[in-house]
Amino acid sequence: MSKLLVLSGKGGTGKTTIALALINLFHSKAFADVDVDAPNLHLIVNPQSLANKKDFIGGKIVKIDQTKCIQCHQCEQACKFDAISNLKVNEYLCEGCLACVQVCPVSAIDVLDDISGETMTYDNQDNFFATAKLKMGRGNSGKLVTNVKEQLPEVKEISVIDGSPGIGCPVVASINGVDMVLIVTEPSLSGMADMERIIKTCEILDVKYMVCINRYDINMKITNKIQEYCKNKHITIVGEIPYDPNVISYQNKMINIINVETSAKASIVNMSHKIIEKIKEEESL
Ligand code: SF4
Ligand code: SF4
Repeated sequence: MSKLLVLSGKGGTGKTTIALALINLFHSKAFADVDVDAPNLHLIVNPQSLANKKDFIGGKIVKIDQTKCIQCHQCEQACKFDAISNLKVNEYLCEGCLACVQVCPVSAIDVLDDISGETMTYDNQDNFFATAKLKMGRGNSGKLVTNVKEQLPEVKEISVIDGSPGIGCPVVASINGVDMVLIVTEPSLSGMADMERIIKTCEILDVKYMVCINRYDINMKITNKIQEYCKNKHITIVGEIPYDPNVISYQNKMINIINVETSAKASIVNMSHKIIEKIKEEESL
């Protein structure tokens, strides 16, 4: 089995649209959405058979038991995150370091599991889908990403994983253990800068990657720069998808663009063949 992770250095490049198209084209039997801060693949996949839903414990959180507290304020002084004020813990500021618990002279601070989000798996008749949602303001997104990926069963087809935008903790966690990364970029200054950052991340983490330029024809000047950059660094561009205004309207109707005729479709189909070739090439090395 090969795991293909679809990433973009920034949001809005069409990453999820392309991931979804590839899931269909590869007849993926196991796929996941690890964009845990803002998952949206489920909106179009619309999975029905929920197999498992469970709380994600991201760490510890504390609560002051007012019946035991003697109001010495030592916990406030010990907290380096200013999470305690007026003898109340701000759950959004608490980092779960437990320093306050250590200093409390009367053991008035309870330590609780911090339910930071939830994971969902769907076992449909011919495929398996894993996703998760992190609660607003919670950290540990990397741990949750790893948790989602671990739910994916081993299958012989290519497993597609829709990653997070950016280069932060969830992206690093999502790269770990995948066979190949597809970086979806767009021809804009920020798109190119973020592509370069994600390429550096892939190189540091020593994972194979390739590039796709989505809506390549909206700014040929920057597309040429991306092509030049990739050529100089011997990076394979597996796809150049033309801008197609119909794509957005199909997305709004929750329609996978592979199921309708769009000018982008042929390019994505062509790209899917190149990705398979590239994966086979890497596997044979
Ligand atoms: S656990 Fe750490 S961060 Fe949270 S309130 Fe206590 S000292 Fe502050
Ligand atoms: S250290 Fe303990 S007793 Fe003192 S204020 Fe904090 S919770 Fe209350």
